Amino acid sequence: MKKLKKEKGIYLYKMLKNKKLKPRIAIIGLTSCEGCQFVMLDQGKRFLNWLKKVELDEFRLLEDQPMPDKNYDICFVEGNPVTAENIKLLKEMRQRSKFLVVLGNCAALGGVWELKNYQNKKRVIRQVYQSMRVPNPDIKEVNNFVKVDLTIPGCPIDGDELMEIIHQLLIAKPVRLPQNPVCEECQMRGYECLLQKGEICLGPISLAGCKAVCLKSKQACWGCRGLFEGAQIKNLMTYLLNNFSREQVYRVMEVFGARDSIMGQLRSDEVNGNKSR
Ligand code: SF4
Ligand code: SF4
Ligand code: SF4
Repeated sequence: MKKLKKEKGIYLYKMLKNKKLKPRIAIIGLTSCEGCQFVMLDQGKRFLNWLKKVELDEFRLLEDQPMPDKNYDICFVEGNPVTAENIKLLKEMRQRSKFLVVLGNCAALGGVWELKNYQNKKRVIRQVYQSMRVPNPDIKEVNNFVKVDLTIPGCPIDGDELMEIIHQLLIAKPVRLPQNPVCEECQMRGYECLLQKGEICLGPISLAGCKAVCLKSKQACWGCRGLFEGAQIKNLMTYLLNNFSREQVYRVMEVFGARDSIMGQLRSDEVNGNKSR
């Protein structure tokens, strides 16, 4: 999770306090279920109050005719750049925006769309589209296409966390998400540990902030918010692979596109560990 650069915060601060200008905002969706944009709307009065402090120029979920020739201070991007049109829009919005904030798992980790990367891609597309000819690219996270300034994680994003972050953006406070595991929130709330009960749970390595909402419903954590910094991936993977088949473990890691980041981090930890020996 990257820290919002200080100078960018200062820019917003000056704009708000000295020039008395409102930041111009765009909110766009790529390929997604639109759930994260609906979380914004679900905030009701809190979100409307925030809107009074900004100039919302583009919100494609709500308006038919976007204004394509404007520049923005902050662009919020939900969804994954699956199609050529998505990629074009994303690059265009990056060029026209000072900050680019990604919303949710689809944008940050590839989301459920990334499932096909781990399967036989051709077979998967045939199952869905049958004989229709459609492009079948590998799914990649938004930061493979453009620079991302800040990520708000989750599937969907958490409303309280969203409001806290967008408030911090406006008062020019550097945004830094606490780097704790989901286990902490789970145990603080007194939920039963599903890992100890014999289920695959990625809570020990997943970034907290969701209030362990899945564990509340006795559903194990499948890592939709990605990894927290300093997660002890090797310990959890060793435990899981000693107690479950590789296929079972990978299947859970693939649901929200976490598998590639988990395996990538594991490899880099091993390389660094070998170097320091
Ligand atoms: S992250 Fe989840 S809720 Fe948000 S758009 Fe993607 S699938 Fe929907
Ligand atoms: S159920 Fe999962 S998140 Fe909760 S304490 Fe156990 S491993 Fe951690
Ligand atoms: S418990 Fe895990 S899967 Fe559920 S919302 Fe939190 S991070 Fe996502």
